[in-house]
Amino acid sequence: MKTITILGATGSVGTSTLDLIERAPDDFRVLALTANCDVARLAAAAIRTRARRAVVADEACLGDLRAALAGSGIEAAGGEQAVIDAAALGADVTLAAIVGCAGLRPVMAAIEGGGTIALANKESLVSAGEVMNHALAKSGAILLPVDSEHSAVFQCLDRTIPARVARIILTASGGPFRDRSLAEMDGITPEQAVAHPNWSMGAKISVDSATMMNKGLELIEAFHLFPVEAAQLDVVVHRQSVIHSMVEYIDGSVIAQLGTPDMRTPIACALAWPDRMATPGERLDLVNVGRLDFEAPDPVRFPALALARAAMEAGGARPAILNAANEVAVAAFLKGRAGFLEIAAIVSDVLNRYDPPAPGDLDSVLAIDAEARAIAEERVKDCVA
Ligand code: NDP
Repeated sequence: MKTITILGATGSVGTSTLDLIERAPDDFRVLALTANCDVARLAAAAIRTRARRAVVADEACLGDLRAALAGSGIEAAGGEQAVIDAAALGADVTLAAIVGCAGLRPVMAAIEGGGTIALANKESLVSAGEVMNHALAKSGAILLPVDSEHSAVFQCLDRTIPARVARIILTASGGPFRDRSLAEMDGITPEQAVAHPNWSMGAKISVDSATMMNKGLELIEAFHLFPVEAAQLDVVVHRQSVIHSMVEYIDGSVIAQLGTPDMRTPIACALAWPDRMATPGERLDLVNVGRLDFEAPDPVRFPALALARAAMEAGGARPAILNAANEVAVAAFLKGRAGFLEIAAIVSDVLNRYDPPAPGDLDSVLAIDAEARAIAEERVKDCVA
């Protein structure tokens, strides 16, 4: 029996995680579930799983949460600090699935508490990779990837021989616009951008997949998770999303992890690690799949990938600025305030305008994040959408 806290329990990853643990009630006991303000979904999940505590980040939603949990015996809490407190409860596994840099302080609190952190919230590692790795080394907490690509690499990587790894190859579906010309991408709507061909995900990561910024964030995520240099990280477009990523060794062997595109598999891998647990998803039928295609990413139509690679190579504050500007640009696009092609342009402009020294601690990362957001918000005002 493992205790578990799910940060972002009402989202796409959170819901998939709940599905898994509700199928294995003898294996998991829920300490806390958190959301931003989706009280109905949060309260229902807390009651179903007999959670000890349910938390909304938006304090204005706490009254509704209390009402929804009345008589259940489940504690209700609200506000940013309450989410951090939930993360610090000392669960055996803390599943971090808040979207965006909003997840950073809770993830850091979970790391400082020890235990295992199953990380879906890639933005936190992108923004604060060095600070987070330092905290991990200090607390002895274990960080396991939930992102399907990084779960694949984690499963293919022989950690006893890090010097024998030649390359990590992340696969990318290419998103919904992989076959569109630049001209055709100009008028893309939020509805079109969130309709991913292979994966069902939250709105922000779906737009990131469409611009391929998601793969850029994943490059930086991999850089912090695995013992490789930036030059050893490659991306290949693989439209079927069957191979989730690969590790190449110095003898030329390439080890790949395959499966159907179902987030419950990488989530289960992190929840059960070092064991395995059953998942209900469709099994891989290679005969049915028939063929696997690969191509190089197109840097002209998908400039976000090069921006992220440059930020990774430069290090310091660059990844935090990239991430913050992207979060603002994606939110603006989803609200109709910026065009699809402006997302990468906004990120590029913010990177050009702001170049502070490398952050040494969490507060410095968050200060850089806040400043980059303010610059990005100003830049959004110039957008024509
Ligand atoms: P969703 O948008 O579906 O869910 C986000 C979750 O975070 C919700 O529970 C939401 O609560 C909560 N939340 C939003 N804002 C805040 C805030 N300010 N403070 C606290 N909680 C907040 O996102 P996904 O599940 O798609 O993605 C979550 C993370 O996992 C992202 O970092 C994403 O990149 C990563 N990821 C997602 C994958 C996927 O398949 N979806 C795959 C790999 C990685 P509420 O519902 O109340 O708004």
